[in-house]
Amino acid sequence: MSTNDVREIIVIGGGPAAYTAALYSARANLNPLVIEGFAWGGQLMITSDVENYPGYPEGVLGPEMMQDLRRQAERFGTEFLTDDVTKVDFSERPFRVWVGDDEYRAEAVVVSTGANARQLGLESEKRLQGRGVSYCAVCDAAFFKEKEIVVVGGGDSAMEEATFLAKFASKVTVIHRRESFRASPIMVDRARANDKIEFLLDSVVEEVLGEETVTGVVVRNLKTNERTELPADGFFVAIGHDPSTALFRGQLDMDEGGYIETKGKTTETNVEGVFAAGDVQDHVYRQAVTAAGSGCMAALDAERFLAAQEGRLEEALAAPRS
Ligand code: NAP
Repeated sequence: MSTNDVREIIVIGGGPAAYTAALYSARANLNPLVIEGFAWGGQLMITSDVENYPGYPEGVLGPEMMQDLRRQAERFGTEFLTDDVTKVDFSERPFRVWVGDDEYRAEAVVVSTGANARQLGLESEKRLQGRGVSYCAVCDAAFFKEKEIVVVGGGDSAMEEATFLAKFASKVTVIHRRESFRASPIMVDRARANDKIEFLLDSVVEEVLGEETVTGVVVRNLKTNERTELPADGFFVAIGHDPSTALFRGQLDMDEGGYIETKGKTTETNVEGVFAAGDVQDHVYRQAVTAAGSGCMAALDAERFLAAQEGRLEEALAAPRS
């Protein structure tokens, strides 16, 4: 089924970047449609307390914060479609976006489909998410002062997170499935030099223990097959992230990790009129507040683009460009 009119802007995604892009474009009278995904809310939905998002001095629960961001965008007339985009065609304008058989068209699109922290896939890991199981040391380290923590992974993220967590924790054990590391030697050396950090190599976590919160992990040594229990209050999984960009492959330029490439300090992609915001184009900062910031940038870039198309650039809100 082909839909109705050509919209000015469609935002694809349902995290802080998407809702902020919607908020700004709604307030600029662009009548955004947000196709937010069936599981809207993004990574914040598997987080409990968020204490590092400005404006919540007492902290806020991740899902509650996402409700707030969504409501704020809704207040200015954002339209939401709680379903998954199944196909896009950015080869010409208006751009086309499908949800099943339904087709939506727009002159500008903001892509903010985010990235997902890779999970180990254990049932116990899922059950204790936000209750000791975390995927973000920067977000959650402060909850583990003088506690014992396990970090899984052997890449730069695991080394960086272990070193950061050791500033708070009494002990950090890095569990890695091989003997050698994917991380750069300097990062490994830094972690090794830290008295609070220990390594368990050739080992995997088979189960996260705990009823209400994490109390430990079951570790299996892959060489001896021996299983041991290790007490822990926190369990940080640092085995990489996957950007949600499969839909855009072949249409938007991406780096080797699958993250969408944006131009300079803008949110412009290789397709004029398509903008990318949030974790889908950022594998460095990955914070709700930086995602929200880039969602704002994408809306301003889109507004400027639309104004230019309509020959009224001077009316666009976005900061002037040199
Ligand atoms: P990564 O380099 O892909 O490393 C992932 C690690 O997790 C690997 O050691 C991998 O083990 C392990 N792993 C993957 N799946 C696993 C599973 N199911 N069970 C157990 N272990 C598993 O990811 P990353 O560390 O997030 O780094 C991503 C990129 O960002 C890299 O290019 C990295 O250099 C960069 N980065 C840089 C910095 C920095 O320079 N400050 C900091 C963070 C990240 P194997 O090694 O056995 O595959």
